[in-house]
Amino acid sequence: MTTNFQSSQKLFQKAIQLIPGGVNSPVRACKSVGMTPAFIHHADGCTLVDMDGNRYIDYVGSWGPMILGHRHPVVIEAITRVLERGTSFGAPTDLEIELAQLVVDAVPSIEMVRMVNSGTEATMSAIRLARGITGRDIIIKFDGCYHGHADALLVSAGSGIATLAISGSPGVPDVIAAQTLSLTYNDSQSFTQIMDRMGSQIAAVIVEPVAGNMGMVPATENFLKTLRTETSRHGSILIFDEVMTGFRVAYGGAQTLYNIMPDLTTLGKIIGGGLPVGAYGGSRDFMEHIAPQGPVYQAGTLSGNPLAMAAGIATLKQIHTPGFYESLDTASALLVDGLNTAIQEAGIPARANHVGSMAGLFFTDKIVRNFDDAKTADLKRFSNFYNGMLNRGIYIAPSQFEVLFISSAHSTSHIEETVHAAQAVFKGLRI
Ligand SMILES: *Cc1c(COP(=O)(O)O)cnc(C)c1O
Repeated sequence: MTTNFQSSQKLFQKAIQLIPGGVNSPVRACKSVGMTPAFIHHADGCTLVDMDGNRYIDYVGSWGPMILGHRHPVVIEAITRVLERGTSFGAPTDLEIELAQLVVDAVPSIEMVRMVNSGTEATMSAIRLARGITGRDIIIKFDGCYHGHADALLVSAGSGIATLAISGSPGVPDVIAAQTLSLTYNDSQSFTQIMDRMGSQIAAVIVEPVAGNMGMVPATENFLKTLRTETSRHGSILIFDEVMTGFRVAYGGAQTLYNIMPDLTTLGKIIGGGLPVGAYGGSRDFMEHIAPQGPVYQAGTLSGNPLAMAAGIATLKQIHTPGFYESLDTASALLVDGLNTAIQEAGIPARANHVGSMAGLFFTDKIVRNFDDAKTADLKRFSNFYNGMLNRGIYIAPSQFEVLFISSAHSTSHIEETVHAAQAVFKGLRI
């Protein structure tokens, strides 16, 4: 294939002089798939157009937020309307109440919510709150789950780190890393054993209820139930990190799918409708520990920013319509079934799956239940798959340990085009 990437390559040469690795977030660099990134000029619906004029069907969706596709008219109109009022006041607005109300109405375990500017801020703040409430220091996370890049959470943290094959990060003091235990995802038994031994020291347990940062790995119901029971028994706080799954796998997040209620929930991505927003919430009792109501400090110059609130409000209202999630699910199933059929025809060891509009594809014949299983995937084969798909105009995340996001802008014909491309690419992946 002879896709022309000249403009993007030229820009990348400039970018690496000015920005570390040429990118403002590591996975964008496409290093692990032996590529340099396509620089994007604009997007519309599920189509991305790069600086060389190449068009792609987009399954990255800005890494999760664009559940309505790009430039949805309702979102653009909401932002435009608020622009006339100003861009930031550092004082409360009606818009913050409106988004908070939508979140409280949607997410069953949330009675109060605090807005921040990213998922990282949300999880970092939720951990601080959990420590503040319990007076304990140690937190438990699970291998392959990513909860943003705060020091305490950058231990065995999935995609970005796994893709670059670095273990943890220099700059995280050992004394901080030592306060975080990382256990095996979906392993109820080892979790229960640790809680039996250390439960009284555990401030919080944080988990992606459907993991999307080691590829797509859903939690078993038994695992999440065990987390709920054991944390309650030991007075530890259970945090569902729904930055990716919130408003994605269901309007009320994974907690409504599994019907298991965490103590605290973190949100991001979709609630910002493509602008920088994160949030954390829980019961009134817990959330009133946060300053200025309570002693746990957390603040933000641009938090609750009116443009971001407007984009979030418009997005949530638009997706909260009858049949929205059902049709996303149908589209995802069409994609995943098509991929699995193409995989069988090509006779390669791989498997696709989905939970709602989060889809996964692992190049292994193992059923993936945890990060060790995920790491059995053939990364060389993924890399060839990525290159082949990109050349056929299909834009997926440049890592085996990411998911594909389907938006309401993906029509049946977009999905069929994607499956056709995959059929051709899979055939070329037989050794
Ligand atoms: C993306 C993500 C984060 C981090 O959010 P940022 O906005 O990138 O800081 C945290 N947790 C999960 C589950 C995520 O998918």
